[in-house]
Amino acid sequence: MIDAKDFRKHAHDFVDWMADYLEHVEDLPVKSQVKPGEIFSQLPDAPPSESADISAIFSDFKHIILPGMTHWQSPNYFAYFTANSSYPSVLAEMLTATLGAQCMVWETSPAAAELEEKVMAWLREMIGLPATFEGVIQDTASTATLVAFLTAREKHSAYRINEKGFSGNEHFRIYCSTEAHSSIEKAVKMAGFGRENLVKIETDAVLAIRPGKLKEAVEQDLANGHTPLCVVAALGTTGTVAIDPLQPVAEICMKHNIWLHVDAAYAGTALVLPEQRYMIEGIGDVDSFVFNPHKWMFTNFDCSAYFVKDVGALLKTFEILPEYLKTGTRGQVNDYRDWGVQLGRRFRALKLWFVIRDYGMEGIRSKVGDHITWAGELAKEVQMEPGFTLLEPQHLGVVCFRYTPEGVKDQEALNAINQRLMQALNGTGKIYLTHTKVDGYIILRIVVGQTSVTRDHVMQAWNLVKKMAPGALKQP
Ligand SMILES: *Cc1c(COP(=O)(O)O)cnc(C)c1O
Repeated sequence: MIDAKDFRKHAHDFVDWMADYLEHVEDLPVKSQVKPGEIFSQLPDAPPSESADISAIFSDFKHIILPGMTHWQSPNYFAYFTANSSYPSVLAEMLTATLGAQCMVWETSPAAAELEEKVMAWLREMIGLPATFEGVIQDTASTATLVAFLTAREKHSAYRINEKGFSGNEHFRIYCSTEAHSSIEKAVKMAGFGRENLVKIETDAVLAIRPGKLKEAVEQDLANGHTPLCVVAALGTTGTVAIDPLQPVAEICMKHNIWLHVDAAYAGTALVLPEQRYMIEGIGDVDSFVFNPHKWMFTNFDCSAYFVKDVGALLKTFEILPEYLKTGTRGQVNDYRDWGVQLGRRFRALKLWFVIRDYGMEGIRSKVGDHITWAGELAKEVQMEPGFTLLEPQHLGVVCFRYTPEGVKDQEALNAINQRLMQALNGTGKIYLTHTKVDGYIILRIVVGQTSVTRDHVMQAWNLVKKMAPGALKQP
């Protein structure tokens, strides 16, 4: 087993490997090319009874594990949304792992609690949220949305459901657009509302929620004896980065006393740029807001920033106080175990602090601004290219398009061609992109948001798409 002396040596070796990896990751196949079971079958059935040498374990990591990894930190990664990281973030994660602290309450590491309070206040200011919000780091946006639903539920029921359970007479209704993220449906199920009580509101030509339809649905539900509880507005949908109009949605929520939760998981990072703040006009009437620094703000997964106006309601919903968790500082400090689902918490604020300080606000703005600029330039290229169709409007760092070769009109044929094109592109290992569906059409997405991506990477990806497109016409 490894001792202090070996640890020092191996840690130095690993750091060298890490630096080499990040410098050369763009030469590796972005999407792992292994087949199902290929990694599993290389691993022994029985756990080892004897200690193995770290060098042997590391060698297996390189030869067995690494080929089965998709390289999310490659500048040729254009899939889903990025989960970008950065040098300061990785350095902080090394420290976090070394400290190995469990930061459930203030006393179990006062610095973790106080740093979290401070960096969340910084982050609030960085993205232009009003000071009426208080922030807490959740693991993911999915959890944050569940937390919002549970808080809305408890506040509405005067904390009765926590005590007695559902009476059966609540008839709560939750609303989001048809384009909203699947985590909302999941949270609706987990919060006990029942999936049938998630009302999906039609979207307009740009795939944003139609406030008029939302108003109708709310009024109809009220007439039918339902209780409109919560609306989730999406600032940047996952498929195409559609942006729900916050102001009119907020007006409906204010009128009927409905909790308004904003899911800005991806797009929230863009709010560091003042010119993007049009998205949060109406933010004063929002109850809760989530965005993921682990998507686009150079901070390792996981780190989701959740902001809530009524912290009292949040605490009353999640607070627990068994004897073994009683401390002498309660009430003077933030005990974050009461701010969400988990008891145990990782020290996530550290990496955010490192990132914000290493980049500075200017550094973050400039990188995010570049991504948006390059995506805009790519969109223009797509628009001008015969045989391709750009999905408009194009928003932030995401470009959605499809190959529409002349002479092919049938939807199924076009979908098959675009599917083949995507598979062929990803099969080269040179780039990785994913798709969505709009109006029945398969749409390819190029997400410009990786930390080390440059304009050249974006244009090379586009050149590869153009070069390989005609090959996708042929059926295999
Ligand atoms: C990615 C995403 C989520 C889910 O994020 P997690 O942090 O993985 O839970 C939710 N909503 C939107 C709009 C997203 O893009």
